[in-house]
Amino acid sequence: MNNTVQMKQATPANKNSPYTQLKSMNIGDCQWTTGFWADKFELCANAMVPYMGDVLCGDVGHALNNFKIAAGEKEGEHQGMFWHDGDFYKFMEAKIYVYAHTKNNELLAELDEYIAIIGKAQESDGYLQTQIQLRDGVDRYENRKYHEMYNTGHLLISACIHFNVTGQRNFLDIAIKHADLLYTIFMPDTKHYGRFGFNQTQIMGLVELYRTLGDKKYLKLAEKFIDNRGKYEVKHHATTEGYPIGDMVQERTPLRESNEAVGHAVLALYYYAGAADVYAETGEKALLDALDRLWENVTTKKMYVTGAVGQAHYGASVNRDMIEEGFIDAFMMPNMTAYNETCANLCNAMFSYRMLNLHGEAKYADIVELVLYNSALSGISVTGKEYFYANPLRMLNNTRDYNAHENVTETPNREPYLSCFCCPPNLVRTIATVSEWAYSLSENGFTVNLYGANTLNSELKDGSPIKVSQETEYPWQGKVKLRMEECKADAFAISLRIPKWAKNSKLTLNGEELSKTLEPGSFVKIERNWKKGDVLVLDMPMEVEFIEGHPRIEEVRNQIAVKRGPIVYCIESPDLPENTDILDIYFNGNKSLEPTHQPNFLGGITTLEGEVLIRKDKGEGIYRTVQKPEWTPHKTQLVPYFAWSNRGQAEMTVFMPVVWED
Ligand SMILES: [Zn+2]
Repeated sequence: MNNTVQMKQATPANKNSPYTQLKSMNIGDCQWTTGFWADKFELCANAMVPYMGDVLCGDVGHALNNFKIAAGEKEGEHQGMFWHDGDFYKFMEAKIYVYAHTKNNELLAELDEYIAIIGKAQESDGYLQTQIQLRDGVDRYENRKYHEMYNTGHLLISACIHFNVTGQRNFLDIAIKHADLLYTIFMPDTKHYGRFGFNQTQIMGLVELYRTLGDKKYLKLAEKFIDNRGKYEVKHHATTEGYPIGDMVQERTPLRESNEAVGHAVLALYYYAGAADVYAETGEKALLDALDRLWENVTTKKMYVTGAVGQAHYGASVNRDMIEEGFIDAFMMPNMTAYNETCANLCNAMFSYRMLNLHGEAKYADIVELVLYNSALSGISVTGKEYFYANPLRMLNNTRDYNAHENVTETPNREPYLSCFCCPPNLVRTIATVSEWAYSLSENGFTVNLYGANTLNSELKDGSPIKVSQETEYPWQGKVKLRMEECKADAFAISLRIPKWAKNSKLTLNGEELSKTLEPGSFVKIERNWKKGDVLVLDMPMEVEFIEGHPRIEEVRNQIAVKRGPIVYCIESPDLPENTDILDIYFNGNKSLEPTHQPNFLGGITTLEGEVLIRKDKGEGIYRTVQKPEWTPHKTQLVPYFAWSNRGQAEMTVFMPVVWED
């Protein structure tokens, strides 16, 4: 195809998208140098990705085996969830990103091996779904519960990124053949396939393929999958049996009429992220208005202090549709039973990142940052080899039967393998590509979305070279120093994100304070003739803050969480006397907490040293009479929420009841 151009751009590859304020940087243009994200990337390249490769390419994960069997290279049966192919594509995506940053050719060769197997597994007409190909008695596109669209979405995205990074067509050609088949089946209006577009990951994949190939049919098909939802009567038929319908899969209300995020949180947020990609190409106002409403609904009424989403494992929507792993009523935010699937949290960041591109407003990057440092990283251990699926804000021992049924995905500790393996590769691919989210191109300049020591070596939109180095100890210190290494002579703008938490920040240029209003939660734009050697210093005082919930969140009334900068803290049983019940921990609001950096503790973190109160008097029964309780003060430390559960099985809480002395 003549229009195929290697975009080199990170996802979303929106260079030519007409309706975006900001454009993604090219993959690899920003490289972490030292500090938090450099450490995480190194761990990702040296532990997370190799370990995951061992698991998924071996017999435990059995993901590559599925492709080998479908390719006729191995005997055996399909193992893993229906969406296991998709999870393997996500792992490949992580490996592609690591290759993009390290140029380690071994990774490229391994990817080529996988691609050759996947290519052999693909049927001659483009169909590629090992969960169906290796299953007797099930036809392709027979029932949406088999998650074909999910696998498709990740195939398309991973293949586009592979092409954009390597310029090789081997993976891309598989994706094209597959998408062309999809087009012939799902583009015509048929009642049979009208509601089939679940789960909605394919929308993002199709738009990315459109961007790579320039062929509008993929965009049209992506749009079709949005238009079809909410169009058909919600009742079970042949393609829906065996999986909840209605709000669970966002098919009751057309997206353009939606005011409330409903149903499975991962499906919903992949759907909204895909719709944001469609809007970037079509500019349809009704779509953007709906996405604005949904983003507000998620982030102001249904999101945890950690940026996590999907309050419940089981529940119902207001339309009384059964929902799983998803959104329930606004402000209904349990701590202990919070589901907060790692994928859902990541999808919240992916949706917010796309909204940042569309609107160019810092509030979206605030959510990306909140998720990354808290409810995303909590999904993986400090060694990079154990995973959480659910990310509750409170953990109690012995309150839950983890073997109650096969779908209990909430675990008391991170596990080295999860039979439902969607979250680990989703998180690892994100860690591998955070640097691609750090900067964006604006009309005449660039924005700094995320902080972390790095070098940027890129081009502005007019093609002029731009080189910048960033020094900072973020997220542990709020001082960020940007040094101009190379730039054009003409004026252009650097926009720095002032995070919502960053009050009383100061900005200096070459040692002189700039008289700019630094409004928390917005970008500050500095437009001038830059020259090599210019030094911009943003100093954001990082105070320890006590956070309370909206009074309508009953589950946290009279409780506080502790936050410093972007990091949410928790208290965990290894930092308490043995056998302390985490529910007996109170916080004395008059006491201060002292940040202490501990480079050799839990991967290098800043703890908060201080005192909590342990309640001594015990009551009994579901309701008890109470007088003023008795407490024992206890000197201890709070650790970042993402770093909990790395010291053995523990109780943990983010929110603590607070006592304010006169
Ligand atoms: Zn997941």
